[in-house]
Amino acid sequence: MAKETHEFQAETKQLLDLMIHSIYTNHEIFLRELISNASDAIDKVHFASLTNRDILEGDDSYEIFLEPDKENHTLTIRDNGIGMSRQEVIENIGTIAKSGTKAFMEQLKKAKEASEGAEGNTDKELIGQFGVGFYSAFMVAEKVVIETRKAGETEGTRWESTGDGSYSIEECDRDKRGTSITITLGKEFFGDDAENDFTENYTLERLVKKYSDYVRYPIKMNFEHE
Ligand code: ADP
Ligand code: MG
Repeated sequence: MAKETHEFQAETKQLLDLMIHSIYTNHEIFLRELISNASDAIDKVHFASLTNRDILEGDDSYEIFLEPDKENHTLTIRDNGIGMSRQEVIENIGTIAKSGTKAFMEQLKKAKEASEGAEGNTDKELIGQFGVGFYSAFMVAEKVVIETRKAGETEGTRWESTGDGSYSIEECDRDKRGTSITITLGKEFFGDDAENDFTENYTLERLVKKYSDYVRYPIKMNFEHE
């Protein structure tokens, strides 16, 4: 299928705007959100495999990889979970199916006022509660690319957006099931001057420990020497 460009739904745009410009200061939680999505996707393929072993195509080593690339200023979060079909990418990523952005923003405001100055968990909790996890990637991203293939299907899908109101979607080659999310980091988020360099193994390790210790699948990084 040819490359298509779609507009985000109005609510999604609002949410993106909020994510990009906003009140959030706790940028690092994007990693927790993406790892948690990877873990959910592996849960799903594992569950499906209980009644249909073939869906694993021989690959039952459930893993999540973090692949920083210093040269290109990108961070990829890759999983061998259930993946998404083209239609699922459009439905799950382009729209906010759950609760309205308005309610979310109101809650956020309220929570902020209540915990003014405190070391708050409010962003994290609210982001989780309202299921806007994926979009948190745009807090640190100039561009996000998703490449995914649904387990048991042959067509891969590539989704790309700079968070400016639209996204493109096209077919791509992908020989394994699962999803890779590649974030091109904004300039505040890599390099020596960055408070948090998300291409740095050390930063990633710290964040995995801090937020994703409970994840039951191995989270692997491509260290130079293992
Ligand atoms: P939530 O996780 O609360 O559903 P998210 O915004 O984090 O909300 O993710 C939206 C949806 O996108 C998920 O429910 C899932 O269907 C899909 N999705 C996101 N990341 C992945 C992934 N790594 N693999 C498969 N599906 C994914
Ligand atoms: Mg999520």
